[in-house]
This record gives sequence, structure tokens and C-alpha cells, in this order.
Amino acid sequence: MAQTVKELHEKRMKIWDESMQNHEKYIDQNTGLFLDKYTKTRACPVCSSMEYQKIFSKEGGTYVKCVKCTMIYLNPVFNDKAIVEYYETNHTEQAQLVESDTDSFYINLYNGGLDRVQQEMKNAKNILDIGCSSGTFLDLAKKRDLRTYGVELNKLEYEFAKNKGHNVFNDLLENINFDNTFDIITMWDVFEHIIDGEFYLKYMKKLLSKNGVIFLQIPSSDSLAAKILQEHCNMFDGLEHVNLYGVETIKMLAKKCSLDVLNIKTVISEIGVINNYLAYENPYLGSATNKENIPNIIDETTLHQTLQGYKLQVVLGVKR
Ligand SMILES: [Zn+2]
Repeated sequence: MAQTVKELHEKRMKIWDESMQNHEKYIDQNTGLFLDKYTKTRACPVCSSMEYQKIFSKEGGTYVKCVKCTMIYLNPVFNDKAIVEYYETNHTEQAQLVESDTDSFYINLYNGGLDRVQQEMKNAKNILDIGCSSGTFLDLAKKRDLRTYGVELNKLEYEFAKNKGHNVFNDLLENINFDNTFDIITMWDVFEHIIDGEFYLKYMKKLLSKNGVIFLQIPSSDSLAAKILQEHCNMFDGLEHVNLYGVETIKMLAKKCSLDVLNIKTVISEIGVINNYLAYENPYLGSATNKENIPNIIDETTLHQTLQGYKLQVVLGVKR
């Protein structure tokens, strides 16, 4: 059933609020920041520089910008023990939301991604989706006769996807022993949650078959929405989105992992959200109806041509 954008945003806000309540127990009420015992500081996840500028704090977390490579990242981040505890107590409602998200908007987004990976890996036989949730994306891949594999940590979502006939694993990627390699590995809105992106990208590369490709959809710190809204932008949640790559920083990370960028584009303009904000309204619940252009600034086509859309879709592999 199609939902209105407003309904979808209201649902998201509800999840956001619940997630923020879950944040609170980790926060020092005097400083408004996460308590030291839950966190660790780190170097830039892309270039390893220790030099950074603080940009803003939000919901207990502090985002910084690397002075050397411009990477935007959360610093400090939760330590391993705290992050496991956090994810175990959160996200119970997520499965329901994702399942109700099976409207044309997501179908188009997912099919667009599939088109692009199949363009780069023409004879793909199988696909692994990491963080596959309840398997909506894998359903579409299966329709294209791909053998579908998924990894999902959330038990409910894992069960749901498994019951639909996908080969799903309920464990951390690095704990799974696969019998085969993969022609396509995808991560939809997952990679920004991973603290050590370099380790993961190299790990995924090892799971690829010859000429296999990796697809990432990630929120873009180079998006106009993020740059205009800054801390008001939902991209910055203070805890889960630990690494916010932009066009150049994702390219740098790929290079570090000996991967080539085979295809890069942006999707989702967020022009409506920006127009709300520019009209002094709540960016996510405001009344702006214009989603085509930001008057006197930019239209949707140009926004995506210049890679300033809200999310980056990147296809990585080794050039032949
Ligand atoms: Zn850096």
C-alpha cells in the first residue's frame, strides 16, 4: 500500500524518537555528550590522520571533519561492548517499517541499483545482501533469477527473510563460512554504520567471485541537504551513522582497498526537505510542495548530475 511521504516521515520520526530515548542512558547529563566509559576516540577512518575539526554535537555524539581528507565521522564512537548492547536493545520496530516500505519508491530505488550492478557484472548468478532486513530487496533479485543470500543480525527480520526462501545468516559477516563466492555483494544503508569501513570493504572483496562487484548505498556528506541542514539533517543521528562518506572520500577508501569505482551516482534529492527548511519550517514535516527545484539555486536534474543528491550509490570492482 502506498503511503504518503508525510506518513512515512511521521513513522520515521517515531522510530527516531524511540532511538533517541535509547540514547539517553548513555549520555552524561552535565555535558550532554556520551559518557567516556562507553566510547573510544579514533583516527580518520579513511586517511588515518589524527587531525580533525569538530563540526557539531548531536544527541550525545560529536561529528568531526578530517583536516587532511575532509571525511566526516563520529568521534568518539561507541566501544565494541557498548555498541553490541545498544543494537541488542534497539531496532525492534524496524522490521515492520521496512516491510511497509515496499511501495514503488523503494522498488524503483532497488531495481535501479540492480540494473547498475548487473550492467557491471553481466553474467551474475548469485547475490549477497548484507543487512538484508526482511528481504524486500532480495525478493526483487530473486525475480531476476539470481540466487539470493542475505546476512541479518536482527532476529525478527532474519526469520522473515528466511521464510521467503532466501539463504539468510543470522550472524556477523566475519563469523560466517560461506561455501561459495559471490558475483554481487550489496549493502543498502548499512556501510555508514560500520566503524572500520576499510576492514569490511577488504573483507567483502575477498568474498567476490572473479569480476564480482560490490554495491553500496550510503548517505552522502556531499549532499546539498546535509550541507544546508547540517545538524538538522537526519543523516546525523549522533550514534549509528559513524562514517559519512562523500564523493571523494568513498573513492579514496575504495582505492585503499584496491577497488575501482565502476559507477557512481546520487539518488533522492531531498529538495522538499530543503525547501521546508529554507521556508523556516520543520524540514521533515513542513508544508513545501515544490520538490522539483530549489528556487534560484538548483533543479533536481542538475543536483544529481553534480552528485549532490542525498544518497550515493557506488559500484566497486576491479577494472578489466
Ligand atoms: Zn582523513
